[in-house]
Amino acid sequence: MSAVRSNSASSCPVLTTFQKECATPSKFLRNVADAIAEDMRAGLAVEGGGDLKMLLTYVDDLPSGVQLGGMKERVIATKSETISIPQELKTGTSEELFGFIASKLANFVANENIPVRFRLEQGRKREIGFAFSFPVNQTSIDSGTVINWCKGFTVSGMDGKNVVACLNEAMEAHGLDMRVSALVNDTVGTLAGARYWDEDVMMGVIIGTGTNACYVDQENAIPKLQSISSSGTTIINTEWAGFSKILPRTIFDQEMDEASVNRGEHLYEKMISGMHLGEIGRRVLLQMCESSHLFGQSVPVKLSIPFSLSTMNLCKMQEDKTDDLLIVGSILNKVLEVEANLEARMSVSQVCDTIVKRGGRLAGAGIVAILEKIEKDTKRLSSGQRTVVAMDGGLYENHPLFRQYMQDAVFELLDDTFASLIAFEHTKDVSGIGAALLAATNSIY
Ligand code: BGC
Ligand code: MG
Repeated sequence: MSAVRSNSASSCPVLTTFQKECATPSKFLRNVADAIAEDMRAGLAVEGGGDLKMLLTYVDDLPSGVQLGGMKERVIATKSETISIPQELKTGTSEELFGFIASKLANFVANENIPVRFRLEQGRKREIGFAFSFPVNQTSIDSGTVINWCKGFTVSGMDGKNVVACLNEAMEAHGLDMRVSALVNDTVGTLAGARYWDEDVMMGVIIGTGTNACYVDQENAIPKLQSISSSGTTIINTEWAGFSKILPRTIFDQEMDEASVNRGEHLYEKMISGMHLGEIGRRVLLQMCESSHLFGQSVPVKLSIPFSLSTMNLCKMQEDKTDDLLIVGSILNKVLEVEANLEARMSVSQVCDTIVKRGGRLAGAGIVAILEKIEKDTKRLSSGQRTVVAMDGGLYENHPLFRQYMQDAVFELLDDTFASLIAFEHTKDVSGIGAALLAATNSIY
């Protein structure tokens, strides 16, 4: 059955070419991992040396003994609320963005019931950790400037401005008695949070709207580092989103990039992360409609609207294992308002699988590059030590097949004897806890 499926479906030349160009056989993927490793080395040698920025985070000591609010339990209670940033604020001014964040924080705090014993004495500000999902040139654990915006954000008025000052000022304007004590990338928050419960965590990886990874490095392996700390280790934020070499880019990737607000940047991310996979799929399907009448003579109007196919729907279609691809059919019907026959549904399913597979495998190559770097400097795997990769982000969390492709690629490339020592842990939403722990260890009080 599956042979028949793929035969008839790939009779469309656009699809056949797309599949061919997206292929990531082991040998090629090994070259990608090596090229990422090379850019890591270059970025650690000098600032701006490679595609990967390899940013210093000023996180040398990972919290393990900190106690947040309790003597016995480590973190006694967490309360959270998810708020989406309105579209117009993504391209607005820094005052608008940080004002919005501060106002939501003020609401959150107003509804909080802090037990008397945890209330702060007069004149003392509450210290907060700020997990920020953009590349920042940090000058200390609590200061830094945005290097470039991404993921659809282009906030004005931030050039050269300290991110922490932006939030502190906005909090003050909203009457909040708080200050930021730790500014951390979301991957760093994830690593720090995960490490709190598991000492073997060496990497933090986010695969969500965007993608990135950080890891614990040996300071003597970082030529650009000015001074060595007492721990001898520090976290490096790779900003791997920016990797751009030997990627299997198709015309659809190129055109999507052309239309983006950060053209030419974050090319690796644009093949892996949640903001982009659906949009690549939409572009491929549109081309298949125009040149091969995928859904008959007419081209669905919806298909011409950028971002009308979400990554979530693309993944759901890819995951459809029903014989007649009924889920694919119903999503196409709901989202694109088309009736697709079985042959069209089979083609769509293959487009989705091609995109998810390429993304998962490319992310896997990045993980291998970092694991091998850690191994080179520490020999922890060769000495039999378990090594954990803390993972988070919506795409990773919600799409088991993406996860599978990613992990398969890691084990395909990595030395077999290491495989049993590597564990992927889904550490859901711990970046905020990690940031809070780092704020606690960096407290000025
Ligand atoms: C940003 C990173 C961030 C990642 C995941 C990327 O686009 O450059 O700083 O960690 O997205 O949120
Ligand atoms: Mg150190």
